[in-house]
Amino acid sequence: MNKKQMIEQAEESLFHVYNRFPVVFDYGKGVHLYDELDEEYLDFASGIGVMAFGYGNEDYENALITQLKRITHTSNLYYHQPMIEAAEKLCKASQMDKVFFTNSGAEAIEGALKTAKKYAYNKKGPGDYEIIAMENSFHGRTIGSLSVTGTEHYREPFYPLMSGVKFATFNDFGSILANLSDNTCAIIMETVQGEGGLYPAEQDFISKVRELCDDEGILLILDEVQCGMGRTGSMYAYQQYGIKPDILTTAKALGNGVPVGAFAVTKEVAENSLVPGDHGTTYGGNPLCTAAVSQVFDMFEDYKIIDHVNEITPYFSNALDKLVEKYDFVTGKRGLGLMQGLVLTIPVKDVVTKALLEQHLVVLSAGSDVLRLLPPLVITKKDVDEFMEKIQKVLDTFL
Ligand SMILES: *Cc1c(COP(=O)(O)O)cnc(C)c1O
Repeated sequence: MNKKQMIEQAEESLFHVYNRFPVVFDYGKGVHLYDELDEEYLDFASGIGVMAFGYGNEDYENALITQLKRITHTSNLYYHQPMIEAAEKLCKASQMDKVFFTNSGAEAIEGALKTAKKYAYNKKGPGDYEIIAMENSFHGRTIGSLSVTGTEHYREPFYPLMSGVKFATFNDFGSILANLSDNTCAIIMETVQGEGGLYPAEQDFISKVRELCDDEGILLILDEVQCGMGRTGSMYAYQQYGIKPDILTTAKALGNGVPVGAFAVTKEVAENSLVPGDHGTTYGGNPLCTAAVSQVFDMFEDYKIIDHVNEITPYFSNALDKLVEKYDFVTGKRGLGLMQGLVLTIPVKDVVTKALLEQHLVVLSAGSDVLRLLPPLVITKKDVDEFMEKIQKVLDTFL
C-alpha cells in the first residue's frame, strides 16, 4: 500500500478526531524517525515529550522483551515484581511516599482530584469542595481533567462539568487569594505550563502557594505529566523550586513509550484519603508497563541523563536565542531545560507543517503562537546543529 492508500484507509475507519499530518512513520532510531519510504526525520517533539531516550534503545527494548515473555498482565488483585520496583524508584525520584499507577496522564489527574476530594471529606465531612485551577492550563481530556483545564473552548461543548472549579491566573498570587474559599480543597497547576505556551511557575508565586496550602490545610497538586521526568533539568521541575506537592501527577516520559502514568502522594495524604474500594483500574501498573518504568529510572541513573540535560541545555538555549536575534517574527523564547518555546508572530501551524513536510523536522505548537520543542533528552550538540540548519531553512521561507 502506498501512503495515499494508507491514509485513505485510515480515514475510512478511524473516528476523525485528529487532523493528522500526511506522514506515515515506520520506525525510529536514536533521535530520528523514518517514514514508509525510509526517509529520515529529525524528531524534536518526542511523541509529545514521551520518547525521552529516543527510539530503538536496546537496554529499554531488552527489558520489555524479557518482561513480555514472563507476564504482561495480572490485574491489581495480585502483586508482581515490576510494580514493586517501579513504585520504589518513583517514590525515590520524586521524594513522594506512595504511588498509584494509571494508564495515562488524564487518569493520573482523575486520581489526584479524587484523592483531594476524599482528603477534604475525611478532614471536614461531606461538602461541595472546590478546586482552584489555572487559566491557560492543560490537564487532559476526560471529564474530570477537562474540568480543571483552563481553555474555555475545550470545555464549553461538554458542560456541565465537575462542579466547584475556579480558575485563577497562573503566576498571580492575588488571583489565587481571590478564588479561595472555606470550601477550597486543592490547588492544581503545572509546574511549567506545556500546552498553554511553556510558562514556568515563578519562584515567588509557587512558594506563596505552597505556604498558603500549608496554612489552610489545602492540597497542592502539581501536574508534571509534561514537565517531569528530567525534561527541565531535574527529575521533577518542583525540585528546582525547593518545594514539594502533596500530590504529584506524572506520565508521558515515565514509560518512554508504553502507556503509563501515576499519581504520587505524601504519607499524610495517603493516610487520610483513598482506602480500598475508593479507586481502581484494570490495566494500571501492569507488569509490562511498570517494567518499562523501572527500566526508565535505571537508565536515568546509568546514563546520567539529568547531568546530560543540564550540559546540553545552554547549547540548545543559545541556539534558540540566535533565532530570536535573527528573525523579526521570532519575538521571544520561554521554557526550562529541554522544554522550550519560541514565540512567533507568523502562523505557528504553517511553521510546524513546513518543517515536517519540507525539512523533515518534527516540532510541535503550543497555543496559536508558540513553536514548542520537546526533543528527546539524549540529544547531542550535533542534533541541535541539525535542528538549527533545518529550522532556519523553514523560517527563511517566511522572510
Ligand atoms: C499530556 C498532558 C496531560 C494528559 O495526559 P494524557 O496521557 O494525554 O491523558 C495532563 N497534563 C499535562 C500537563 C499534559 O501535558
